[in-house]
Amino acid sequence: MKNILSLCLMLGILSTTIAQPLHKKYDLLITNANVVDVPTGKLLKNRLLAISGDTIRAVDDTRKAATYKADKVIDANGKYIIPGLWDMHIHLRGGDSTIEANKKLLPLFLAYGVTTVRECGGDITPSVMRWRAETANGELAGPRIFTSGPKLDGPHAVWAGSIPVVTPQDVTHALDSLQEIHSDFVKIYDSKISGDAYLEIIRQAKKRGMKVTGHMPYTVELKEAAALGMDGSEHMYYVFKACSSKEDSITNLVREREHTARPMGLFGALPALYATFDSVKAAQLFRYLAAKHFTITPTLFISKTLAGIKDTDHSKDSLLNYIDPKIQATYAGRIRGANRQSDQARQFTEKFEAACTALVPKMYAAGVNIVAGSDCGAFNSYVYPGSSIHEEIKLLAASGLTPSQALTTATVNGAKFMGVQNFYGSLRPGKCADLVVLDHNPLEDINAIDQITSVVSHGKFYSRSDLDALLASIKH
Ligand SMILES: [Zn+2]
Repeated sequence: MKNILSLCLMLGILSTTIAQPLHKKYDLLITNANVVDVPTGKLLKNRLLAISGDTIRAVDDTRKAATYKADKVIDANGKYIIPGLWDMHIHLRGGDSTIEANKKLLPLFLAYGVTTVRECGGDITPSVMRWRAETANGELAGPRIFTSGPKLDGPHAVWAGSIPVVTPQDVTHALDSLQEIHSDFVKIYDSKISGDAYLEIIRQAKKRGMKVTGHMPYTVELKEAAALGMDGSEHMYYVFKACSSKEDSITNLVREREHTARPMGLFGALPALYATFDSVKAAQLFRYLAAKHFTITPTLFISKTLAGIKDTDHSKDSLLNYIDPKIQATYAGRIRGANRQSDQARQFTEKFEAACTALVPKMYAAGVNIVAGSDCGAFNSYVYPGSSIHEEIKLLAASGLTPSQALTTATVNGAKFMGVQNFYGSLRPGKCADLVVLDHNPLEDINAIDQITSVVSHGKFYSRSDLDALLASIKH
């Protein structure tokens, strides 16, 4: 992360310590733009943006454009500029035979205005680390990557590449290995991990100053994890569990049955949790999580997509043209699972998802750091890199967030989780030049995020035809 930030940081320091020369020359000047100032939710009309290297150096009245000199001038023609989008939950994975197929997903993100991704664990870590460096230094067209490296889980975990931990010593070794590869955060999965090992990871990671997020075994309560300093929770299952008036007794039941022939686990517990949802407890929990600066990644779109697989013909999806057949082959597992689901189970899933969605604006209003994440990547059928974060943002808006709040989840709040909000997430002088030019005003209609005119990533300008060329280069 230090490498990625160094240039922005350096330029940021320069801008505050050296007076601006009168006729300074910028690399890129964008004029006649309406800037969406995400932190305030305001539209700043008729602006110019002056960019040097990968940093926004000035945001000014466009009528002063003549006083700005630049190598390249782009007339935005009254279009709308938002910060580059952050997809806070993606995966690059599928084994060594899919490395090239995964690499081709990177331009796809960029073509949809995604300039940063948080990669939440996989099994091709050395390649991801290389791409992290190459997208940061401009060698490779793709988003900036923050990555956990391998997930931590129990022994014989379901996801390939996970590091198994049981004892406190295992946790120490696992965290050592993540720090050796400069992992950006710790991602815990819950297929086989014990509650004790889970809490131990959080304790040790926090001592080292590492960020921790992930799933959570149902033998643990979210408040215990948050009290130890856990930074975030992926998906809605764990926060939903903590909203039950019977959280204690259900957790005990899960614990009692953990090592029996009939373990209860997450999905077994959901109907009881749904039936005992307590809005007063939920409100208290959200205030607590907000005070802890806790982050939740709702991942609404993947839930909707997987729930709808049985009724949806995806075979004509145009985006399949950009998903390598090797990645498409990994879709089979979730399709089989969806087709096996009974009508009764599906009806429950729909009810449960509606209840989860209804919590989003309440958490947001309480001050929980909500981030947009798609969970796209191999195995996660029909959740396409790039377009899926647009769909997630639209669902977050449909849940009750304003367009500006929905944009906040996909810009400012992602940067906040990574602790880099001084450099990313909004279009202010000193921030990194990651931005998306839209045809229409997203504050009026969030669907405007689909009509992208151009993208600036890392200070590099991509016109619509450049973005189309990126897409053509990965089409199969
Ligand atoms: Zn995931």
